[in-house]
Amino acid sequence: MKKILHRAWAEINLNALAHNVEEVRKALPEKTEYMAVVKANAYGHGDEAVCRKLSEMGVNWFAVSNLEEALSVRHVCHDAEIFILGYTPPECAPDIAKYNIIQGIVSLEYAKELCQYAESPVRCHIKLDTGMGRIGFRSRDALTCTEELLPLFDMKMLSIEGIYTHFAAADSPEEEDVLYTRQQEERIFEVYDRLSDMGHKLPHVHCMNSAASVYKPNERCTLARVGIIMYGLSPNYPVPVPVDIKPVMTFKSVISQVKTVYAGDCISYGRTYTASEERRIATVTVGYADGYARLLSGKGKALVHGVPCPIVGRVCMDQMMLDVTDVPADVQSGDEVTLFGDCDITADWLASLYGTIGYEIICGISKRVPRIIAE
Ligand SMILES: *Cc1c(COP(=O)(O)O)cnc(C)c1O
Repeated sequence: MKKILHRAWAEINLNALAHNVEEVRKALPEKTEYMAVVKANAYGHGDEAVCRKLSEMGVNWFAVSNLEEALSVRHVCHDAEIFILGYTPPECAPDIAKYNIIQGIVSLEYAKELCQYAESPVRCHIKLDTGMGRIGFRSRDALTCTEELLPLFDMKMLSIEGIYTHFAAADSPEEEDVLYTRQQEERIFEVYDRLSDMGHKLPHVHCMNSAASVYKPNERCTLARVGIIMYGLSPNYPVPVPVDIKPVMTFKSVISQVKTVYAGDCISYGRTYTASEERRIATVTVGYADGYARLLSGKGKALVHGVPCPIVGRVCMDQMMLDVTDVPADVQSGDEVTLFGDCDITADWLASLYGTIGYEIICGISKRVPRIIAE
């Protein structure tokens, strides 16, 4: 049925998702709540099914990158806490409040603009830039930083409920990176403690991403923002992850044609592959328009009847070719191909072949690829 309906599809295994969530929960300190990072359509998995499953599991916190994503989650999770990690245009302040969303506040300027547009108080967490260099309040020391934050507490249209920061290198085992992460951690808790001493005791403080949640959980964090590990990939492949995780997405396609080529025959655009002897070549109905990177041309492998087969020639927009000569079974058109997922070929491994990370692969699986929910 799938073979008829789909040329390329992503199977989303919600049991694997549940398994991964439970594994991370076990690693978290008792008082740290799980915040599921479901930005970018749940890292390409489909936010509706993912959020529904997480809600069933009692997950009550969701993080997204923008208001559109927040509303998409709100549509499924009516009572959950939804947190926008990134920028929301200040004109959207009334909607943020209307849908009971929590916004990250990155600067005094932004806070003022948000207040100008707000019709009722906007729930927010203060974002500190303790070393990521991306967004947030920056300053050389915790004392100055705390002083810079004080005007926020006089803004009537802000309801400040927390403070957070983001680690730049929590996934690295290198000594210098470990030290850097510790400094980032110390900085946020120093600011948090100073604010508390001044009478602004915030209910929430958070800094952990997936890597920190499993490598070095901090029991003072009220929330852990877990993304990549929940989807079964590593924050820093091939550095091992100390909890048992399973890939949630398995990307599949089918073979449309199988042929024999002979010495001297060329395959695909640019004639980058020329057969040196008789080979069996299968054409697969997936290409870069599906999010299967063209950079994998001549590098990647895909499973046919469980056997890893090399890509020959360039990956095209909607098709690519595999050398299936070494598959003992009789390969035929209509046969399923596993591109990556819960098998010998992971998104992390494929990513390592062309200088990227598993995150980019799963987020990049395009819109025309149907997500098939498996449980
Ligand atoms: C994406 C993101 C996360 C999740 O990171 P993972 O490495 O996927 O766990 C956490 N916090 C912020 C601010 C993010 O942008």
